[in-house]
Amino acid sequence: MKIRCIPYKTKKIVNIHKHVDGWFWEKYSAHPYIGCQYGCEYCYWRDEKYNMLAREKDARDLEDPFSQYIKIKVNAPELLRKELSRLPKEIIYTGDYQPVEAKFNLSREMLKVCLDLGFPVLINEKSPFVLKDLDLIKDISEKSWACVLWSISNHTSEGYSDIFEPNLPSIESRFKTMKKIAEAGVLTGTAFMPILPFITDSDDNLEAIVKKTAEFGGRFVLAGSLTMSGAQATRYMQIITRHCPEVAKKYRALYNRGYIPKCEYTGGIGEKVKKLCEKQGISDRMPRYIPPGKTAVNKKVAERLLNETYYMELRCENKYRILAYRKASWGVDEIDKDIKQLYYEKGLEGLKTIPGVGSKLSLRIEEELLRL
Ligand code: SF4
Repeated sequence: MKIRCIPYKTKKIVNIHKHVDGWFWEKYSAHPYIGCQYGCEYCYWRDEKYNMLAREKDARDLEDPFSQYIKIKVNAPELLRKELSRLPKEIIYTGDYQPVEAKFNLSREMLKVCLDLGFPVLINEKSPFVLKDLDLIKDISEKSWACVLWSISNHTSEGYSDIFEPNLPSIESRFKTMKKIAEAGVLTGTAFMPILPFITDSDDNLEAIVKKTAEFGGRFVLAGSLTMSGAQATRYMQIITRHCPEVAKKYRALYNRGYIPKCEYTGGIGEKVKKLCEKQGISDRMPRYIPPGKTAVNKKVAERLLNETYYMELRCENKYRILAYRKASWGVDEIDKDIKQLYYEKGLEGLKTIPGVGSKLSLRIEEELLRL
């Protein structure tokens, strides 16, 4: 396939997230390339809100600009050093091991910056090519924290890869690389995402992914269903209408024009994966990196509350209650005072000064503090 690489200098590299999301725990993200040669058909980056490539004049003659027109942020490492130097040391999501990395090596240079400055790193990969930087990832893991997350959605559905991930390294090779990462002492697990409704959501597939993860050294499986929006949704629906028309009809009812499937569906999948993980002795949540310092307890309590929020979602609980929990979790996560100290000095009244925390949630936080 014809690939057009466009080197350029970006003005900014680090995105600072307003809040941690309770899934990957990252506070920052920074990536060296725009576009992805792997070109998975379900990729959410295909949505025009993220993918401006199709609009670029020089990309218009390409069949699939998203996977054929790759912009290279040649100054990414130096900008990263400059921007991270001013930020607190929280998890940064970085790295991109698509084939252009062999030529530009920017992921490696960015990891060197993270190592030098002591930032914990999250990498989400689909390619064994990441192993070229295992030396650095190991050093980062020893100095602060690192996690290599494997994006794997299918183990049993025949013909899946040819249709949805035609350019990607095989699923077996991803599991084998997971094992090497685990053997190097680095945290690893599976992002079982996106689960494609009626295609990769069979009980057999759920069980196979969880079992293989445990067998190959992964410590957790995060299950997330396909999201649908904009150009990505249009392209994906065209693909499944062509290859599996009987399934396409069911999507309309499941998504009902929304971004995510109905709660009963995602909740059901999440509950099944949770049970399978328990059976295999691994987790269905990703353990959080807790930086040392006066807010370590806050981060731990926020982790528990955000995990609880996830389980409330699985049970399709009241959305306002879930939102209140989430806001309180962020309040705990972001306050710069030690909440344990606050509790010892002023009791529940002290906890109520945390943004988003009222009477009920102060009692819930007290419970966690007494348990720690
Ligand atoms: S590898 Fe990831 S970023 Fe690249 S196309 Fe596939 S889903 Fe998108």
